[in-house]
Amino acid sequence: MTRSIVRTILSAALLAAAAGAASAQDFGPIPETTTELAPGLHLLQGGGGNVLACAGDGGLLLIDADVEQMADKLLAATAALQAGPVALAVATHWHFDHVGGFGALAAAGAVLAAHESVRDWMAAPQHLDVLDHDVPASPAAALPQICIGDTLTLRWGDETIGLRHAAGHTGGDLVVRLHRADVVHAGDLFFNCGYPYIDTAHGGSIDGMIDGVEYVLGLCGPGTRIVPGHGPVATPDELRTYLGILRDYRRIVAAEKAAGRSLEETVAARPAAALDERWGGAMFPPEAFIEMIWLSL
Ligand SMILES: [Zn+2]
Repeated sequence: MTRSIVRTILSAALLAAAAGAASAQDFGPIPETTTELAPGLHLLQGGGGNVLACAGDGGLLLIDADVEQMADKLLAATAALQAGPVALAVATHWHFDHVGGFGALAAAGAVLAAHESVRDWMAAPQHLDVLDHDVPASPAAALPQICIGDTLTLRWGDETIGLRHAAGHTGGDLVVRLHRADVVHAGDLFFNCGYPYIDTAHGGSIDGMIDGVEYVLGLCGPGTRIVPGHGPVATPDELRTYLGILRDYRRIVAAEKAAGRSLEETVAARPAAALDERWGGAMFPPEAFIEMIWLSL
């Protein structure tokens, strides 16, 4: 399989996965489901990344905002939780399946926030490595007004929310910790459904992913629930399993590279076939994961 064919398949795979449906355009039948994680804290799941909604006296705070095509359903789901517009929406990173609702949320009155790199990336056309996927610039009204540096603490209703910058999945990830609920939103540092995407064109790397996941695990007690960017809510043990996969795969690809094998030879050799059998079918296929690790080593 040539790389261009792999990339064509992957573009469709990402979009279909982001949609949670066979067709990228087919968001129509996808509901925005709401699950209570704690009093005043809900998980919203629709067509893109996982969203958290935290109630506060002045309105809801959202962590992430799904894909643009789900914006009407996202707004309806938030209105069912708390009357009035969403007050503040914070992005875990700049990808379209996490900030897609930003324009609609801002039009409805929300203030938008993200790591300081996110506004720059959203404001101009971007290209995603490996996927060969072009991302158009976002309209000015959908850009974050609050640009966060390394850390920020928010008091929101009864909740204390700690935001911390990480550079792993992209160079501008935010890990979001909700202290009272004992919940951490790890963004796309954690794909709880298979091999992750690593945005090597925008500061992401396998070593950054490993560091970011180690940081998240350091926040966890035995009862902490971890919201991944994609997939079901996880326990610390499940995140530890995922960390083991990242570490093992990094070591295997690094050894192939050090032995002088090309990317194509490494992909063809299937050096981690046992891992691939378990984890390579649901999200990104092994050849893509190998390329992303390779590019970042
Ligand atoms: Zn992402």
